[in-house]
Amino acid sequence: MSDADIGDEEVALVTEVLRSRALSCGPMLERFEAAFASRIGARFAVAVSSGTAGLHLALIAAGVGEGDLVITTPYSFVASANAALYQRAVPVFVDIDPVTLNIDPGQVQQAVHDLQSPDARGRRWLPRRRNAGGAGRLKAVVPVHVFGQPADMDPIVAAARQYDVAVVEDACEAIGGEYRGRRVGALGDASVFGFFPNKQMTTGEGGLVATDDAGWANLLRSLRNQGRDDGSAWLSYSRLGFNYRLDDMSAAIGVAQLRRLDELLARRERVAAAYTERLAIPGVAPMPLHPATTRRSWFVYVVRFAPEVDRDGVMRALADAGVPSRPYFPCIHLQPFYREQFGFQPGDFPHAEAASQATLALPFHANLSIEAIDFVVERLAEAVSGCRRPAASHAGAEVPPC
Ligand SMILES: *Cc1c(COP(=O)(O)O)cnc(C)c1O
Repeated sequence: MSDADIGDEEVALVTEVLRSRALSCGPMLERFEAAFASRIGARFAVAVSSGTAGLHLALIAAGVGEGDLVITTPYSFVASANAALYQRAVPVFVDIDPVTLNIDPGQVQQAVHDLQSPDARGRRWLPRRRNAGGAGRLKAVVPVHVFGQPADMDPIVAAARQYDVAVVEDACEAIGGEYRGRRVGALGDASVFGFFPNKQMTTGEGGLVATDDAGWANLLRSLRNQGRDDGSAWLSYSRLGFNYRLDDMSAAIGVAQLRRLDELLARRERVAAAYTERLAIPGVAPMPLHPATTRRSWFVYVVRFAPEVDRDGVMRALADAGVPSRPYFPCIHLQPFYREQFGFQPGDFPHAEAASQATLALPFHANLSIEAIDFVVERLAEAVSGCRRPAASHAGAEVPPC
C-alpha cells in the first residue's frame, strides 16, 4: 500500500546522532524544528512523538477540558476525533461536503453559532449520549485536510474568531499543500503534522505542532515534557504533562526528509497524475480539486465509485488479483466505541456515510512504477466490471454478493 523513501542522507544523519550520543533533547531536535517552522511559514514548531500526541497537546493548549465541545469531521482518521476524547470533551461532528469530502464550512459556521446557546438550537448538534453532559463550552474546531486537499479554511476561521474558539488544523495528511496561495499549517491557531511511514515525509513515528503564538509554543513544550517549565530546574513540574517527546534519531530522519520534501512531493504528484490519466473506467472517479486548493499534497490515491459499483466486492476482487486496497475512511462516528459512548447511529451524517461506502485507497507512494500503476488500473477495471449491481438495486439492501 505504501513505502517510505529513505536515502543515504537519512542514514548518515541518524548515524551522526548515534555517534554523538545526544539521543534525546539534543541539537538535532532543534534543527528539525527550526527547519520545519521555516518550511511551513510558522514562527514555532514543537516536535512530538506522533501526530495523535500533537493533536492531544494542541487541544489542551486550546483550553479543551472535561465536557467541552470540539467540532470536527466524522470522515477522517480516528485520531482527529480521539484527541478530544482524551480530554473527556464531547466530539461535535459536522457532516462533509459531498464533493471534496472535507468538513462542510457552511455547516461549521452554523454549528459554531448555534452552540453558543444551550437551548434546543445548540443541542441539536450534540451527540445523543454525552459523557460529561456536554455542558462545557465550544473550545475548538479541528478541520482535517482530507487526503492532502486543504479544508475550506476561511469561513471556518472567520466563524471561530467571532466567538473566541480556537482552530487547530489537522494537517497530518497535507504537508506542502496550499489553500488560496497560503501554506497549510499556518491557517489556524495551531496545526498538527504526522510523520508515520505512510505520510509524505516520515520520521518513523513522529509528529509536530506548529503555531505563531509564543504562549502556545511554551505550553506545548512543557506538556510534551512531563509538564516541566522551560528553563526550570530538572524535576520541577508546573502542570500535568506527558512524555510525548520525539527522539533525536527520529528528528534526524526528519531533517533529511525535509530537505528532500519538494522532490518527494513531486514524485507523489507524478504517480497520482499517472493514475488519473489511466482511470477511464466508467463508474470510477478520482478525487476532485476544490477551486480554493492552489496546491494539493498527495497523501493517498483514493477513488470514488458510482452507486452501481459494489466497493467491497471490488476490494475483494483486487485482493484476489494481488492488489492491496483500503476502504478509506470508515466513518468515525460509526466505530463501535463511538456508538457505545455517544449513541451515534447510521444516518447521522449521510454525506460522510455515503463517501465512506464508496471510496477506496489504491497502492500509493513516491516510487510506485508505471508498470505497477498499469497493473493496478487493469485489475481495477476488471474488478469493477465484475462488480456492477443490477440497475434497480443501487440503493437497496438486497445487493447480491460480488
Ligand atoms: C496520520 C494522521 C494522524 C496522526 O497519526 P499518527 O499515527 O499518530 O502520527 C492524524 N490525523 C490524520 C487525519 C492522519 O491521517
